[in-house]
Amino acid sequence: MSNVLHRSLTTTLPTVSGGEGSYLIDQDGKRYLDACGGAAVSCLGHDNARVRAALKAQIDCVAFAHTSFFTNEPAEELARFLIARAPEGTGNGRVMYPGSGSEAMEAALKLARQYHLERGDDARCKVIARAPSYHGNTLGALAAGGHAGRRAPFQPLLIDVDHIDAAYGYRMKHDGESEAEFALRMANLLDARIRELGPETVMAFVAEPVVGASLGTQPAPGGYFKRIREICDEHGILLIADEVMCGMGRTGRLFALEQEGIAADITTLAKGLGAGYAPIAAVMATEKVVNAIEDGSGLLWNGHTYMSHAVATAGALAVQKVIEKDKLLDNVRQRGEQLRAALFARLGDHPNVGDIRGRGLFQSVELVQDRTSKAPFPVATGLAPAIRAAALDLGLMCYPAQGCADGTRGDHVLLAPAYISTAEEIDTIVALLAEAIETTLARME
Ligand code: PLP
Repeated sequence: MSNVLHRSLTTTLPTVSGGEGSYLIDQDGKRYLDACGGAAVSCLGHDNARVRAALKAQIDCVAFAHTSFFTNEPAEELARFLIARAPEGTGNGRVMYPGSGSEAMEAALKLARQYHLERGDDARCKVIARAPSYHGNTLGALAAGGHAGRRAPFQPLLIDVDHIDAAYGYRMKHDGESEAEFALRMANLLDARIRELGPETVMAFVAEPVVGASLGTQPAPGGYFKRIREICDEHGILLIADEVMCGMGRTGRLFALEQEGIAADITTLAKGLGAGYAPIAAVMATEKVVNAIEDGSGLLWNGHTYMSHAVATAGALAVQKVIEKDKLLDNVRQRGEQLRAALFARLGDHPNVGDIRGRGLFQSVELVQDRTSKAPFPVATGLAPAIRAAALDLGLMCYPAQGCADGTRGDHVLLAPAYISTAEEIDTIVALLAEAIETTLARME
């Protein structure tokens, strides 16, 4: 029996005993091809020697010095690295480092509130986000998220956050509507909601540039974020981009918003930042936000004991240097195209595959009972967990998520292979995934 409080108290998990490139190995020597990076985390695979050396060197130097006394070189260098590569418009901003994506989202929301207070705009306290979305599991981040199932048990504890529909092309784009029309219609939902709530009361709009686990790697239609940016500016509202999952190269560019041609006021990063070698997240604030604080109280009204942890920032810095030096984003784009093409070739005509979507090495397959009506499988069927189990049997780690009980969304399987993936590994991923899906569907007949 395990004394660790795992997510499932009734499942016995294998014990991980090693990692080799894109593979994890358990206590019995079974090898698992990690096609999802756990949860879009392990972008460098599991045994990068340069990152290990950087972590060791930092521990040998100094592991921890509290941030009310000291800064440290890796935290400073990583901040310079990120700011220099951030989407145009970020300016000479600043970066804070919490320990997880949820903490980063909490910090982002508080930073947005502080920005308005510093400017004397005290009435601005409302947040608008999208549904579906996932922004983390702590109470503030959970409140921002539009994930009905995860919110439900904690609903009485959650702050009031308004949600507009996310731009879910497969089910929401009208027949005959162009992509540009769809983008505008969905973005204008924000304008309407702001006007309903009273623009002077709204502090921030939160969105994932490519929606991750809650919707299966859903990019926004072209022009959507440009219009969102205009609306936020028009109403004096901060735009918070949650790039915790889609950021740090996952979509083929370091920041997912680069592809939309705009910058957010506050950006959160996590998973690919430390690639699993270090528990680390980042909150990047543009010069506009930083200046309001510098010209106001001069103090950040937030902090965590372990923020800017020297070993974590050294690990993340090493990860980012490897990605850049080895030109891994080129590989993300090439292998991403290969992955997409292979998914279409192998599963595109399958009667239970409704949609294949994503960007870079961030792709998902949505499964439906009927392609014409787009009717999802009932949640009670347990399709997603069954595919997960079948894939694990075959030695493949993928990330299936259940659909919505009200039938507005099907089960999907999310793939987020490492940026070091070879062409052969991508082919193996698609072959094993197709086998896992087909075996599971056959068992359900
Ligand atoms: N935001 C997004 C988009 C995520 O996908 C996640 C985690 O999956 C989070 C925030 C929360 O991150 P963490 O699990 O590190 O707290």
